[in-house]
Amino acid sequence: MSYLPLIPNSYAESDRTLPESIPSSADRITAGESPFATSELASFRERMREFARTCIAPYATEWDEAGTFPLDLYRQAAHAGVIGAGFDPAYGGTGGDIRHTLIVKEELARFGSGGVRVGLTTHSIALPPLLALGNETLKRRIAPAVLRGEKLMALAVSEPSGGSDVAGIQTHAVEDGDHFVVNGRKLFISTGIRADYYTLAVRTGGPGKAGLSLLLVERGTPGFLQHPLKKMGWWSSDTAELVFDNCRVPRSNLIGEEGQGFVGLMKNFNQERLGNTAIVLGASKACYDEAVHWARNRLVFGEALIGKQVTRHKLVDMATQIQAVDTQLSLLAWRFSRGQADAAQIAMTKNIATETYERCANEAVQIHGGHGVLRHNRVDRLFRESKMLSIGGGAAEILKDLAARQLGL
Ligand SMILES: Cc1cc2nc3c(=O)[nH]c(=O)nc-3n(C[C@H](O)[C@H](O)[C@H](O)COP(=O)(O)OP(=O)(O)OC[C@H]3O[C@@H](n4cnc5c(N)ncnc54)[C@H](O)[C@@H]3O)c2cc1C
Repeated sequence: MSYLPLIPNSYAESDRTLPESIPSSADRITAGESPFATSELASFRERMREFARTCIAPYATEWDEAGTFPLDLYRQAAHAGVIGAGFDPAYGGTGGDIRHTLIVKEELARFGSGGVRVGLTTHSIALPPLLALGNETLKRRIAPAVLRGEKLMALAVSEPSGGSDVAGIQTHAVEDGDHFVVNGRKLFISTGIRADYYTLAVRTGGPGKAGLSLLLVERGTPGFLQHPLKKMGWWSSDTAELVFDNCRVPRSNLIGEEGQGFVGLMKNFNQERLGNTAIVLGASKACYDEAVHWARNRLVFGEALIGKQVTRHKLVDMATQIQAVDTQLSLLAWRFSRGQADAAQIAMTKNIATETYERCANEAVQIHGGHGVLRHNRVDRLFRESKMLSIGGGAAEILKDLAARQLGL
């Protein structure tokens, strides 16, 4: 005896129905003038949204299940302006400022998938230290190919002994003629298997921050091994443990001067945290869109779920937090673009944004009921991914410590 499926395929693979729900409910929450509301930025956002909707969303489930996505997507993304956004055209970027970078991250997180988004944007944390500190030869050899989507780049800082304590890095590099000999391990490295280039934090000097340097390591260098890691979310992004066993790296691959490693990483921390805020903002809006759509269409006790006051209040609570994060991010991006980055404000905003995403994902699943925990439902994926950035990119507790210090507490 055969049964009709209880859940139609079109819903079970809800990524494929995504374009129908656009323009989305979440756009209404943040409508109005803002530093992001110029016509140039609006059309840039529309292009990024279109790329995520057409080139990622229809395949997100399939790629998540496969644990990877096609390398060709990097070239397509570069062609669409995703990869080079915010980078200097002199090195192959497509220009723009922090707002372009944040729009890319928000739209890929909102209309694409977390795994593909992190895969396509690891260069945004790996390349800036090279561009800030590296010599011209290194910059011109590496950056253009990365920004054309032909080469992949990863940042390798965290270690098995701890990711939060960057100043305590143990992987060391010892000079030997015109090479450094690297020994140690890195953990949780995004794009850690497929990257061609790695911005690697190593200890070349004594203890603490001052002993850290950055090296550019190329995949395939003898003594450099990679092991894949499986995770709770971001399945289509490869994450790896890296092992360096007497790995010889040419001295010419030193990024900047010896001892500049911590400064090189620090320079990018504020921008990375603003980027993480944009990512979780996009994901929170996706949760809201899915929850509104479901609440309008699901009948409970003979009426639409959205007819219940408790449901509307849940949605307004989500909208309230999303609005607060969106407004704060606009303000901080505007200050950042004027050289007024404030590390405490940025750290606190990243924390409230990741909390917002966790709450929105939790409520979106709750509003979906049992359907919310079914595999291949978009809110299932959004929920699984909602812990990733309250740990990655600076754990919430570390950012609170930083804010406390900056606020003089
Ligand atoms: C999916 C994913 C991708 C990542 N990608 C990269 C990457 O591409 N490159 C890279 O270098 N790293 C990457 N990371 C690593 C990430 O930056 C670290 O996980 C993070 O810095 C925390 O380090 P840890 O996991 O070793 O936790 P630990 O440092 O061991 O800390 C564990 C927990 O202890 C608490 N804690 C730690 N210190 C304090 C303190 N001083 N006070 C109070 N509480 C504290 C926090 O809750 C923290 O979450 C990634 C992580 C994840 C999960």
